[in-house]
Amino acid sequence: MMKKKYILRFSPEIVKKPLVSDLVRKFDVSVNILNADISSGRAGMLVVELEGTEEALERSVEDLLNDGVKCSPHVKALVFRQEECVACGSCTAVCFSGALQMNPESWELEFDQDSCIVCGLCVEACPLRLFTITREMES
Ligand code: SF4
Ligand code: SF4
Repeated sequence: MMKKKYILRFSPEIVKKPLVSDLVRKFDVSVNILNADISSGRAGMLVVELEGTEEALERSVEDLLNDGVKCSPHVKALVFRQEECVACGSCTAVCFSGALQMNPESWELEFDQDSCIVCGLCVEACPLRLFTITREMES
């Protein structure tokens, strides 16, 4: 058994398809949805972690591609120089995944790496340029 993270991007026509339950049923993989941005009428995006045999993961990716889903390995990571943060909050306004949030009591910025989908929007939003995107090893 192995686990891999993928970013799935799909057109509005595919949004209504049961992509996740299809994978579970056809290839006996378990699917952990790490993040989702899906609204009716516009393109959707899912960040998922698939767990299964190597063959099952390969067949799942092939099946998604055949269905018109763009499927790319999630191999990027966000690096944050937290010690230099001045807690201005600009980055939280663009982070739709909720990975960056101001603590309502301390007013310090909190970064939840697991929720980050590495969209890169905070890189430009931070006036001090405290975020950089780097590649991480595929697991
Ligand atoms: S890259 Fe930045 S804006 Fe995008 S999800 Fe991660 S923390 Fe949020
Ligand atoms: S935009 Fe930069 S300085 Fe402002 S809260 Fe976010 S990380 Fe900190």
